[in-house]
Amino acid sequence: MRSASPTAPHHRVAAVGGGPSNLSLAALAEDVVPGSLAIYERRGEPAWHPGQLTPGSRLQTTWLKDLVSLADPRNRLSFLNYLVTTGRVYAFLNAQFDAIPRLEYARYLAWAATELGTVHYGMDITGIDFADGRFVLDTADRTVATADHVVIGLGTRAHVPPCLRGADLDGVLLAEQMDAHLTAAQSAPYEQVLVVGGGQTGAECVLNLVSRGFRDIRWLGRRHWFAPLDDSPSANDFFRPTYLRFFQGLPSQTRQRYVAEQSLTSDGITMATLQELYRVNYEAFLRDGRCPVMMLPGRNVVEAASRHGSVTLWCERDWGGRERHTARYVMLATGREQCPLPFTPRLRDLVETDTDGEPVVEQDYSIRWKHSPEHRIFVQNRARFSHGLADPNLSLLAVRSAVIINSLLDRDVFVIRDDQVSTVWT
Ligand SMILES: Cc1cc2nc3c(=O)[nH]c(=O)nc-3n(C[C@H](O)[C@H](O)[C@H](O)COP(=O)(O)OP(=O)(O)OC[C@H]3O[C@@H](n4cnc5c(N)ncnc54)[C@H](O)[C@@H]3O)c2cc1C
Repeated sequence: MRSASPTAPHHRVAAVGGGPSNLSLAALAEDVVPGSLAIYERRGEPAWHPGQLTPGSRLQTTWLKDLVSLADPRNRLSFLNYLVTTGRVYAFLNAQFDAIPRLEYARYLAWAATELGTVHYGMDITGIDFADGRFVLDTADRTVATADHVVIGLGTRAHVPPCLRGADLDGVLLAEQMDAHLTAAQSAPYEQVLVVGGGQTGAECVLNLVSRGFRDIRWLGRRHWFAPLDDSPSANDFFRPTYLRFFQGLPSQTRQRYVAEQSLTSDGITMATLQELYRVNYEAFLRDGRCPVMMLPGRNVVEAASRHGSVTLWCERDWGGRERHTARYVMLATGREQCPLPFTPRLRDLVETDTDGEPVVEQDYSIRWKHSPEHRIFVQNRARFSHGLADPNLSLLAVRSAVIINSLLDRDVFVIRDDQVSTVWT
């Protein structure tokens, strides 16, 4: 383990990961504590889910819930200022989007990162240690920074089911690799493709394949239907500060149950995507007498094998029995999982963890650890079960950042108001 290097820059706050979570934090911190926060990002340049910005893909969150506005609507890094500054505001208004293109959100983030100027790219932080009274951030070959406090916003990575992991399965691709690996129907349009995963990413994958000319797509989902996103007003009540406070006060078992029961408020498929899919199938049937997409819900993939250039998946059906599907390509849209925390063994030993080995996250998003009063570790997008389903989403980004800044400064710099609530929880 290295000790703090005298040449590495020292920051009051070092944020690891340059996704929307930490960009929001940096944007809100800019006016309040100028120059005190730096972001370390593994990618070489600004990017947001770059493999999943296909034409037609839309943000599931209103643009009003940008990096800053819910906490500080006058902040220069608002989405509205981005539109005005880049000269696109009138074109944007006239395009009358119900939901903005995901590509636009990625561009907005890149603009905000450039404006901030505090993101250090190409910094894959492989070790966070605590030595000589400060945090030490290492890449594989050197110490790049030290800090009084750290905020960790590593996001998630694609989850691969155990039966599809590690095996030599030629033809199995992650949804996010599709653009890079598949240009169009490779040989014949009736070459079979399997898409595994019945959520929004799976649905987008299917539509993407149709647009590339594939005409024999089988879509496997674990739920017994391809469930729509619940974007109703009452579902959206879960994504507001008042509910967040209520949720944090619930017993752990109730929180776990609610997270499971509320999952379709963020894991379902948008109505627009479902409608497009059904219309694509309908029109193709009119033209060719055959639907390009066969929808197979209630299938849980349990085994996989690859032979002679094709992949075979065995599935257990929800209502009993097994079936087999073979295809040239298998696209995995099987959810996301948290990236592991790059703590050194020494730091890990100082952190309090729950029964799953995850750090215990306090209401202010700090984690419990030995030196917590003087040196804080905050985590973003890592507290689904303690802080509810808003935590892994973009909905309350600015609110979470505001809570962290208030906590770091030990005063209410940002006042979060959510006064008009008609649903009564307590
Ligand atoms: C395709 C897709 C679309 C989504 N759309 C929506 C939506 O419409 N609405 C919504 O509410 N939510 C959406 N989400 C969920 C979620 O809001 C986003 O994933 C969001 O990007 C999370 O922000 P984040 O900053 O926490 O993580 P990320 O955006 O994943 O950013 C984390 C960053 O940390 C970097 N990093 C990771 N490890 C290290 C390391 N060791 N050192 C340095 N850097 C590191 C990564 O390169 C990455 O840039 C979507 C998710 C996906 C996958």
